[in-house]
Amino acid sequence: MREERAATLAVGDELLEGRYPDLNSPAIASRLLRAGLIAGRFEVIGDDEAAIADSVRRLAQEHAVVIVTGGLGPTLDDVTRSAVARAAGVELVVAPQARAHVEGWNARAGREMPNSNERQMLVPEGAAVLANPNGTAPGFHIELPVPSSVPAVRRAQTDSKALVIALPGPPGEMLPMFESMVLPALNERPSARSFAERRFHLFGLSESVFADEAGDWMARDANPQMGVTFKAGTLTVRLVATADSAPAAEALAQDRAEAFRARFGSWIYSETEADPAVLLVQACRERGLRVALAESCTGGQVAARVTSVPGASAVLEEAFVTYANRAKVVRLGVPEALIQTHGAVSRDVAEAMAQGAARVAGEA
Ligand code: ATP
Ligand code: MG
Repeated sequence: MREERAATLAVGDELLEGRYPDLNSPAIASRLLRAGLIAGRFEVIGDDEAAIADSVRRLAQEHAVVIVTGGLGPTLDDVTRSAVARAAGVELVVAPQARAHVEGWNARAGREMPNSNERQMLVPEGAAVLANPNGTAPGFHIELPVPSSVPAVRRAQTDSKALVIALPGPPGEMLPMFESMVLPALNERPSARSFAERRFHLFGLSESVFADEAGDWMARDANPQMGVTFKAGTLTVRLVATADSAPAAEALAQDRAEAFRARFGSWIYSETEADPAVLLVQACRERGLRVALAESCTGGQVAARVTSVPGASAVLEEAFVTYANRAKVVRLGVPEALIQTHGAVSRDVAEAMAQGAARVAGEA
């Protein structure tokens, strides 16, 4: 059985103008595994009822779950409610729970309810309301029948229904609702599959050498599925195992993780933290060590990264940016001959800089 996929639809003209990126879809996607789902598609669309209804219908045909964010506000350009009703072929109705939520919100704020808030009591007929603890706009969810004209192989679910969930746009409202209400509800779906995830952070391997070494572990239909991202000299490898039960998924992930460690152990620098600066601060704190830094062409960027880690003050003593060769010689005591022989950008000179920094900082 294939894993089920979810699509996100971020609604708002402002998201299409290029000034505000859609932050909701990535935030949702990174949490979907916990609900037994894989992200299948992100879409961004303007505040246009017909276009939103079209997208919802289309996404519902190929995804078990469609999560719409934004467009639930009280103004006329907030059209998600009516668009989803249109996609579902139902009317908007006043939902008592939504009414209670909007009235309660205004009462707590100690103000008369503005007329425009009445729009926020409406949900598509048949939808269930999702309370919003941090704003006036309640969310809702509704099942959308998937027309039988869609070929069975492309249908997301055997029972030909997709779950459409609408949440408010502001991430500070959307995320708490997603975490506290949507994730648990999604987990209760009888069709929910279980996933187990592992991450490895590697240094010293290029992406292509890694791909050769990993071989068919990286096949698109492998289980666990393996994905890799390359960033600033480090590789992050993510394993996702899929199974019918949580223990079965865990066992699959565990097996592959052990094989992975056996094959790539000498390049793995962490299984929990990608940022070497965070690991450096942690390692020094654990060992009660203090650190001095010597940099050349990075111009202080290493120091900037280390000092941005909370707790860095407990370990960082001093940082030198010895950019010119003369500075390396004068400040850190790097032998001039070493620079002549090996060049400034060499392992030998880097080592001499490190020794110099340790000595000078130790004298402070
Ligand atoms: P509210 O009633 O709180 O306004 P809403 O559902 O109507 O909720 P929108 O009007 O669509 O939300 O969006 C309000 C603001 O939330 C936007 O101006 C934007 O700053 C932010 N926002 C909306 N969608 C997103 C998104 N996908 N990513 C990041 N920010 C978003
Ligand atoms: Mg909007």
